[in-house]
Amino acid sequence: MADQPALRVAIVGGGIGGLVLAVALRKLCGDRIRVDIYEAAHAFSEIGAGIGVWPRVWATMEALDLAGDLSAVATGNDGQELQMRRSDNPTDGIESGSGSLMNVWLKMRGIRAFHRAEFQAVLIAHLPPGPFYATHFNKRLSSYAPTQDDSDTITLTFVDGTTAVCDLLVGCDGIKSVVRSTLYRSSPTADPVWSGSVAYRSLISQEALREVNPEHPSLTKGMMPSHRPALQHLVAFPISNHKFVNIVAFVTEAEGEGTKYEGEWMREASKQEVQEAYAGWEPLVMQLIEASSASWEANDRPLTSIDKASLWAINTVPRLPTYVGERVVLLGDAAHAMNPHQGSGAGQAIEDSFILASLLADSRVTRRVLPKVLEIYDSVRRPVSQDVARRSRDQGRIFDCILSPSDAGVDVPETTGNSLADDLVRRSAAAQQLLLWAKDTTIMDDRDKALRALDAALGTTSP
Ligand SMILES: Cc1cc2nc3c(=O)[nH]c(=O)nc-3n(C[C@H](O)[C@H](O)[C@H](O)COP(=O)(O)OP(=O)(O)OC[C@H]3O[C@@H](n4cnc5c(N)ncnc54)[C@H](O)[C@@H]3O)c2cc1C
Repeated sequence: MADQPALRVAIVGGGIGGLVLAVALRKLCGDRIRVDIYEAAHAFSEIGAGIGVWPRVWATMEALDLAGDLSAVATGNDGQELQMRRSDNPTDGIESGSGSLMNVWLKMRGIRAFHRAEFQAVLIAHLPPGPFYATHFNKRLSSYAPTQDDSDTITLTFVDGTTAVCDLLVGCDGIKSVVRSTLYRSSPTADPVWSGSVAYRSLISQEALREVNPEHPSLTKGMMPSHRPALQHLVAFPISNHKFVNIVAFVTEAEGEGTKYEGEWMREASKQEVQEAYAGWEPLVMQLIEASSASWEANDRPLTSIDKASLWAINTVPRLPTYVGERVVLLGDAAHAMNPHQGSGAGQAIEDSFILASLLADSRVTRRVLPKVLEIYDSVRRPVSQDVARRSRDQGRIFDCILSPSDAGVDVPETTGNSLADDLVRRSAAAQQLLLWAKDTTIMDDRDKALRALDAALGTTSP
């Protein structure tokens, strides 16, 4: 064990991004780096909802020795399927041209689905032991500034009046990031904006859904009902080794994108509100809402912190011109909070963490060369994450029938002659194309690119 760490890294925010970074720094850098997590809440917490992880992200979980424990609480992988359905028939839905429902991209891309609290529990179990690691709860950052003594360090100031010093500050503090607003000197151009969508989120137990309909497709695979001209769509898929079904039901205002959301960003929602939002949709949709109600009443989900459906305003961070300052770096939602339509916000936070920790693991990286290292992080991570954010946004607008695939620059097959089926075929083909990055690119290639850039920048520089 080293006597003194080479670098002191302060992670502000202990969500998925901050936790994965702490695990990655330990795994890849060992005792070379001291890690402190400063979390505003009194404990790590996660909401009662599902989360999907693509193979590109899963590769980082394998590299960090998390895959074994996560596999025990995962649902799906290559067996996952998603049915895209037209749902505007309140008696029996509408199936696609051939009469069979379409299985689209989820099966091909090998997504794994988790209960967020179970995913988080694995990360917490892998947090490093002391003495070079510490978690500080009830520490809400209020600002940071270069330390006044020319030491090339950063001084953090917390709402409780205390301070801390670090060599590198990593802002993992989510969409309302204080680190981002300080880095951007409170410029409104870096403030989050509304995507135009809200989402009702809920978990239902498999038993509750089985009682309503023992043959419901969401018991075994993902389902995505939508229809033209409704500006809404719903996603439901099993998580937690099939113990629960995760439901996200979107409602969009086409002109709302880029405006400021008036109202609470998250609040509870009643069953009646969700039913009214989806009135006239096919029975399989209404059964999900009906079963949601049953399981809320049963209150049978010890792992959830939200026991009812909740309504989330989907806000996003605009395309930032940089994720870094000299000794400050943004990661996860703080840098690129995005629409959730490709299930990738947390995945991109995980990729950020992996690339940053891989760079810091190089023994030539010292406080002096940190600005160069952060530039490389920015050059590798910003284009990828902002491209995923753009694809996620376009995919949602295609699902909501606001954007045509061709307007999104996606080349999809022309009509089949059956207009109902054709609409679905075109939108599912567009979704597959927009998701190609998850299949055709790898995080390890990006890691290697970052390390090559580090070599070029540092050469044989001695620490
Ligand atoms: C409906 C929906 C579905 C989604 N589905 C998926 C999915 O399937 N797959 C996927 O990859 N992503 C998904 N996402 C996105 C994902 O939830 C987020 O991108 C991810 O949770 C962001 O993690 P984070 O660690 O960057 O930020 P957060 O989870 O927001 O964590 C920030 C942490 O910082 C703390 N904090 C905040 N301010 C301060 C401060 N000033 N000082 C100290 N601490 C502070 C907070 O308490 C919190 O613990 C979805 C999002 C939504 C809305």
